[in-house]
Amino acid sequence: MTNTLVDPFQRAVNYLRVSVTDRCDFRCVYCMTENMSFLPKKELLSLEELDRMCSAFINLGVKKLRITGGEPLVRRGIMTFFDAMARHLESGALQELTLTTNGSQLSRFAKDLAAAGVKRVNVSLDTLNDEKFARVTRWGRLSQVIKGIDAAQAAGLRIKINAVALRGFNEDELLDLTKWCADRDMDMTWIEVMPMGDMEGIERIGQFWPLGDVRAQLGEHYTLSELSERTGGPARYVRLEETGQKIGFITPLSHNFCESCNRVRLTCTGELYMCLGQEDRAALRDALRENPDDNAPLVAAIRTAIANKPKGHDFDYSRQDGDGQMSRHMSHTGG
Ligand code: SAM
Ligand code: SF4
Repeated sequence: MTNTLVDPFQRAVNYLRVSVTDRCDFRCVYCMTENMSFLPKKELLSLEELDRMCSAFINLGVKKLRITGGEPLVRRGIMTFFDAMARHLESGALQELTLTTNGSQLSRFAKDLAAAGVKRVNVSLDTLNDEKFARVTRWGRLSQVIKGIDAAQAAGLRIKINAVALRGFNEDELLDLTKWCADRDMDMTWIEVMPMGDMEGIERIGQFWPLGDVRAQLGEHYTLSELSERTGGPARYVRLEETGQKIGFITPLSHNFCESCNRVRLTCTGELYMCLGQEDRAALRDALRENPDDNAPLVAAIRTAIANKPKGHDFDYSRQDGDGQMSRHMSHTGG
């Protein structure tokens, strides 16, 4: 057997996204309810188990690891895990170690992350207005996130800003956000809001804002050049000629990326979701826990899971009315 993971549709799976916690210090309205209940600790993979799990995937050909959550930087001891993953970067087995964060803890961790070999970080930020930021995150403070971004840039980390497009909420900030990112030499990605969880709060904050509109509005102010770049995910990119920035559009609800999908998602409880848009998953934790000294059962379970990766998903926002078609929350699978 080769040390690569190839699914039945001949797609090489070389990108693993790992949610290391379901907890978060924010309560973004599109992601969590205000009174989320979180998993008991014993359900979570320990840091050692996360290491074993990720290392198994890396041995099977995963080249890119994205750490997410919940908020990954609120997981206690998380730097131990990043430091441990650094060995795979050093050996060359892993090409990229990265994370998606709300930025609240970045000022504490930026230097250590850079030292562990992280080069790029995605920071989620939907608005530059203090009051709106507090409304959309419920518990967050904008100034703390800006401080985190400052620290990360000072540590040499390349930052990309991810913003969820919400009609009637950040529509009026499209140009301000673009310029703010340009001034800081940051690329940006817009994400279409997905029908996750129960979407409580969305109605009050804003609504679905199709990215075709975002793009068209940008095109009224900038010269957009289409980039052919594909990352195997649901993003398409343009370059703004005037600023040099790369702007991404993530439309997870469209089907147009499934054929090149190269990724799977591991939850903090060790469940592997083979497709963001489907409930199909493989429970890998038992194979790991029941065999502390033998990785063979885990490797077999991973291979079986990949052999069951579906061809595509059938999310369709137009077919539903804002109620979550998917019952799980983004904080569980990590988006
Ligand atoms: N806490 C980290 C953060 O906010 O960046 C990482 C986890 S968060 C679940 C990952 C990404 O998912 C964030 O960029 C967030 O904006 C996005 N997200 C959460 N719920 C979403 C939804 N319902 N639709 C679209 N994007 C969503
Ligand atoms: Fe937390 Fe990220 Fe979800 Fe916001 S989007 S509640 S920051 S996990």
